[in-house]
Amino acid sequence: MQILIVGTGYVGLVTGACFAEMGHTVTCLDINEEKIEMLKKGLCPIFEPGLDELVKRNLQQKRLSFTTDYKKSVREAKICFIAVPTPSRADGSCDISYVENAARQIAQHMDDYRIIVNKSTVPVGTAARVSAIIREEKGSSFAFDVVSNPEFLKEGAAIQDCLKPDRIIIGASSTKAIEILREIYSPFTLSHDRILIMDILSAEMTKYAANAMLALRISFMNEMAAVCKEVGANINEVRKGIGSDTRIGYSFLYPGAGYGGSCFPKDVRALIATAKNVGCQPLLLEAVDAVNEKQKTVLGKNMLQYFASRGGVKNKTIGVWGLSFKPDTDDMREAPSITFIRSLLKEGANLRLFDPISMSNAKKMLGDSSQITWCENEFEAANTADAVALLTEWKQFRLVDFHEIRKNMKGIAFFDGRNQYKPFEMKEKGFDYIAIGVPDQLQS
Ligand code: NAD
Repeated sequence: MQILIVGTGYVGLVTGACFAEMGHTVTCLDINEEKIEMLKKGLCPIFEPGLDELVKRNLQQKRLSFTTDYKKSVREAKICFIAVPTPSRADGSCDISYVENAARQIAQHMDDYRIIVNKSTVPVGTAARVSAIIREEKGSSFAFDVVSNPEFLKEGAAIQDCLKPDRIIIGASSTKAIEILREIYSPFTLSHDRILIMDILSAEMTKYAANAMLALRISFMNEMAAVCKEVGANINEVRKGIGSDTRIGYSFLYPGAGYGGSCFPKDVRALIATAKNVGCQPLLLEAVDAVNEKQKTVLGKNMLQYFASRGGVKNKTIGVWGLSFKPDTDDMREAPSITFIRSLLKEGANLRLFDPISMSNAKKMLGDSSQITWCENEFEAANTADAVALLTEWKQFRLVDFHEIRKNMKGIAFFDGRNQYKPFEMKEKGFDYIAIGVPDQLQS
């Protein structure tokens, strides 16, 4: 089936490549010409494990193509997926103007029945808004269907999530559209049926409820970590103790430097706005967001406190391991590392930064500063540092030679923002070890 994906970012490109891999003919469209030119040459503009090969293979086999041309691609495709950004407005509500623009441009070139599928994360009522736009453009007798099909992929594991989704949610009111969506997704459901059909409003709401639930678990653990630290308990032990309860489970119970990325922060805020808009009091959601904002400052505050009795953080050198909001992605959107780095720059510290993949995106966000040195690896970042801070738990940081690291550092402090290391071992290796929700392990 000929499929059009409008918006060729993390979601659109991965979805397009996976549909093509399953045998569909897919065109990915974007308004960013530079991105499309790169992709036409088989070059991936984003880092996502496995995506490069998938794009190259399907491009070569002519199942995947790239364009900026709405007219030709809408005429050729029977179904148009919208995967454009839905950022936060200043008040936290969701800005659906990119979706509205995409819908209007699709509508202007529709010459026959089409299905328009919202894959972007959009507030309840957006499918109705998309329908209204199409009716404005085409008149009330034109035949089309709008479907909600929210995306649940995780950056860093996006290909696997897309090829083997836990569930495929289809919110639709038209039997014809449901049948076509079932056909498109049939190669993804061979082992068992993963498709959940529901009404459009519930499908739109499901995506927000899922992200809010996951964010809630993280904020809950971060709050527990704060209490653990004060009472002398160890959140790592508490996590195992509660995760072993099958009613709770182990997923998303990791405390850390706060959640970031392009989804959780904006989706929690958008759901707060939706709730308020309909007269509900989103007490829990507001707490999830507030705890996270506070959490992003914890590591920086721990550092200030540590150096307060050691001459202050001004002019100290801090090595930073990991910048992206999580491992296996180059995505820097709302990354906790940015809050941490900016707070230390403000205090006059010098920073030695390293991330395996996201350095160029980080440079765009942080800009030029005489206080920043961009490093080639974790050893270089730790070299001459008074302290090292782990912000993103990339696998390559798991089994580092800490004796070598310690030897080349000026100071002995290690701030673990992801609780990756064993506190007593770090102390034995000569570090002052400060983590999240774990008693500090100081040399004296
Ligand atoms: P992104 O910023 O990586 O990509 C969006 C792309 O859309 C950009 O390349 C942009 O140039 C393009 N675009 C904007 N307006 C356009 C238009 N009118 N026509 C054609 N292209 C246009 O965004 P993303 O991370 O892929 O997110 C897209 C949507 O999917 C958002 O609603 C997001 O919340 C949701 N989502 C994201 C993830 C994730 O992990 N990134 C997961 C699930 C859902």
